Amino acid sequence: MVTLAEALCYCRSHMRLGAKIFLTSVLLIAILAAVAGWSLSAMQRLVAVNRGILTETLPALHAAIGLRESVPALVRLETRYVVLGDREYFALWARRMEGVGAEVDRLAGLVTTEEERLRLAEVRTRLATYRELMERERALVERGLKGSAAVLMEGQSRAAAEGVEAAAIRLGAAIQSAADQALGRARELERRTWTAVLVALVASVAAAVGGTAWVAVRLTRSLRRLSAATHEVAQGSFSQPVPVESRDEIADLAGAFNRMAAQLREVEAMKEEFFSTLSHELRTPLTSIREGVNLLRDGVHGPLTPKQERLVTIVGLSAERLLRLINQILDLSRLQAGLLPLERRWGDLERLAARALDELRPQAEEKGVHLSRNGGVPGEAGSGSIKVFVDEERLLQILINLVGNAVKFTPAGGAVQLALEERADEVEITVSDTGPGIPAEALPRIFERYQQAHRGRGGSGLGLAIVKALAEAHGGSVGVESEEGKGSRFTVVLPRDGGSP
Ligand code: ADP
Repeated sequence: MVTLAEALCYCRSHMRLGAKIFLTSVLLIAILAAVAGWSLSAMQRLVAVNRGILTETLPALHAAIGLRESVPALVRLETRYVVLGDREYFALWARRMEGVGAEVDRLAGLVTTEEERLRLAEVRTRLATYRELMERERALVERGLKGSAAVLMEGQSRAAAEGVEAAAIRLGAAIQSAADQALGRARELERRTWTAVLVALVASVAAAVGGTAWVAVRLTRSLRRLSAATHEVAQGSFSQPVPVESRDEIADLAGAFNRMAAQLREVEAMKEEFFSTLSHELRTPLTSIREGVNLLRDGVHGPLTPKQERLVTIVGLSAERLLRLINQILDLSRLQAGLLPLERRWGDLERLAARALDELRPQAEEKGVHLSRNGGVPGEAGSGSIKVFVDEERLLQILINLVGNAVKFTPAGGAVQLALEERADEVEITVSDTGPGIPAEALPRIFERYQQAHRGRGGSGLGLAIVKALAEAHGGSVGVESEEGKGSRFTVVLPRDGGSP
């Protein structure tokens, strides 16, 4: 046999969404219909008990009282007949007695309990005795023996009449007690009906609220999960599949979503591998080209004509640019795979900053951009030293990427400033410029790969992603504040001990 829990479990996991909602509603309607049906049947029973009291008990009680009240009238007629000897009185007595007999017969159809039946039988017996005695009195009166008849009337007949009266009183009491019992049962039934209707109503309302809440909670929970996962996919960080708990439409959606996310991950991994393999394969021939160009430029194989020299310079610059791009791609994929080894040692941040500025100064001067350190001019500030435990070449790469971007994007006449701040256990590097700034909509994703806020300025969109990955590999972080038209301010915070455990 299938238990309710098994049925619910099956319904939870196998049914379609529409069927679940439909079944929950049908279940609730069925419960309410059952409660209504049961209430109606209880009401019917209540009405039956009351009808019984009205159509049987009350007339029976009335008849029993009438019976008792008939006895004194019979005795009066009997007395007049015996004393006066007038047959008319006997006829009246006989008619009255006939009425009493008919009433007793009617009562037989109204009594219901055993006690009532016993009492009615007693009334009959006593009435028969009284009738018999009256017959004997009549015989005596007919024969002119009024004295003997009076003796019989005063003695046995009076006792029989009183017996009939007493039996009628007992019959009334029995009917009354049966009526009291019926009323008690009716009250009990009414009380139970109310309790059951209230309990059933509360239970069905609770079941309705619970059922609806169950469907709603499951629905919104699954949708919330899916929406969170969609958000993660959009951020590129989705890794865990969305759990599929049932077989409804939402589960289909979750399954399709998981398959899509898995395919996306696969494509992403293939893309990464493709780039990394390609970059690797390109690096060696490009390095050879660069070395060859250097040899040619140095005149190792003889002097070059001015035209050849120009061509060799162009080839050299192109090879450099390609090599830089390839190195960026390789660095980033290694950083993301956690494969880029950091050679950390205690170094001087001041010295690294000076190196970065020296390297970029010719470019800044050529563009007419003012390059400074902590508000001063290069070389003036930073005469002390800031000790940090870092991979110096990688930190230099961070500085060059940030200052290089600032110089690249700041127009002539603008200024770029590199500031260092030393704190107890961390250092803060700030690169600010008076350039075009970054549009607000591009800002949240600017550290992601291939994100560029300005078109037509060359570049690869990898520099900031490398800065972020390198800062994080050193246990640090990077942030940016920028307003379009008002310049940008990049901040890198690094632990002084390089985040080493
Ligand atoms: P690339 O400079 O090669 O395009 P980056 O990752 O270094 O790649 O920079 C990504 C984008 O961020 C740039 O294309 C540019 O739109 C924006 N950006 C970076 N630095 C600045 C800056 N100092 N001022 C304005 N925009 C900047």
